[in-house]
Amino acid sequence: MDSADVISDLSRVLYQGPEIQRQIARLAAQIDDDYAGLSEQDLILVGVLNGAVMVMADLSRSLKTHCQMEWMAISSYGSGTTSSGVLRILKDLSVDIAGRHVLVVEDIIDTGLTLSYLIDNLRSRGPASVEVMTAFRKPEASKCPVDVKYVGFDIPADFVVGYGLDYAGRYRNLTDLGVLDPKVYTR
Ligand code: 5GP
Repeated sequence: MDSADVISDLSRVLYQGPEIQRQIARLAAQIDDDYAGLSEQDLILVGVLNGAVMVMADLSRSLKTHCQMEWMAISSYGSGTTSSGVLRILKDLSVDIAGRHVLVVEDIIDTGLTLSYLIDNLRSRGPASVEVMTAFRKPEASKCPVDVKYVGFDIPADFVVGYGLDYAGRYRNLTDLGVLDPKVYTR
């Protein structure tokens, strides 16, 4: 679906799908340059489920570099909309990353809490390097101590949906990125 299909649920469309894909392709070209000749072994892309599915699909297909795709799922303890700040791994990697070059592929970074936890966890496994690519980044992320090397778009602090990002399981298949109208979560 595109934003026209759910226009009454959105207060604003931030980016159309093709614009997002062009920006992801630009980042892929930069990543190709940065990893050129770096290792005999393939780069490992680690996607964070479920939101990073679309960005992983677009990034990996734009890369000219060989890469393996791995997935992790992380959940925060607690219920409702507030995070307790305690995270746990629901699904772990299926490969050993010791000595390998790892690129974390994120959908969105808000507070950076999820990312900090993930990076500490991955670093403890002895990889050759760990870098981060995110499709979207919110202003709060500037307080996060993790250096994010590849950023698609810096966006406002609003709650957004589309391009893999959901609200209550919906809108992940929206090709565009839009701000969800608050009436959707107050009705
Ligand atoms: P952080 O730990 O950086 O605060 O939050 C990261 C996670 O929160 C993202 O992976 C995503 O699942 C969720 N998240 C943060 N902001 C948004 C948003 O605007 N929309 C949606 N759908 N999820 C978000």
